[in-house]
Amino acid sequence: MATYSTLGITLLVHKYKGTGRVVSFCTPTRGKVEAVAQGIGRPHSKLAAAVELFTLSKLMFAEGRDLDRLIQAEVIEAHYALRQDMTRLGYASYIAELTANTSEPDHPLPGLFERLAGTYSALCDATSAGSGQATDPELVLWSYLMGLFEAHGVAPDLEVCCRCRTALSGDGWYVPADAGLMCAGCRPGENGMLLSAEARGTAQSIQRMPPDKLGRLSLGDEARGQIRRFIDAHTDHQFAVETKSRKFIRQLRGMSPEI
Ligand SMILES: [Zn+2]
Repeated sequence: MATYSTLGITLLVHKYKGTGRVVSFCTPTRGKVEAVAQGIGRPHSKLAAAVELFTLSKLMFAEGRDLDRLIQAEVIEAHYALRQDMTRLGYASYIAELTANTSEPDHPLPGLFERLAGTYSALCDATSAGSGQATDPELVLWSYLMGLFEAHGVAPDLEVCCRCRTALSGDGWYVPADAGLMCAGCRPGENGMLLSAEARGTAQSIQRMPPDKLGRLSLGDEARGQIRRFIDAHTDHQFAVETKSRKFIRQLRGMSPEI
């Protein structure tokens, strides 16, 4: 029986044959690993803690004909805080679903595992927007999405008009059909989503800064709404993945305007 060991972060968990689970992990060396974990529902299961969502563990798998089997696990970081409030749970679930749906087995995307671990760690420390110095969870989400775009080679260029290639100054417009930002001259008619100079500058900072440094950024409501629409549109255009958790985040936003 061939076995292999790797670090992994739990992305998705589905029930499988009674007390079993099929689990998707993000790993640094093997991309997405989908494996069966047996006996999770039983008391004292040694694997149960590692298949909790968002947990970072050291894992050992046995190769199988169809699915590999998780045979050992040691939790390194449970990211417990992500399961403790609705906002963090919503963002962490959205990140997990998007990562699982855009990753392939045996195709690790460079730096993505490390970025995911850093993002979950920053999200554990984040609190809701507007409450003092702490990092705003939506900025952490956007930072991860910018990293995911980059890992897939579809990062939006926020400095240059995608049509005429002149440097943007001031406002720009994101045109979903072109998946890029345009200047006032190239923007087709009234189409496109405005990214003001403030929103574009903040989006550039989010692109460049590691997630644990984002607490330094402050953002007005108008710019926040513009960046949100732009990033959602670019995510839809590039990945075309409808996730359950984004609907959940939208519901949360409806209930509480600051998130
Ligand atoms: Zn242009």
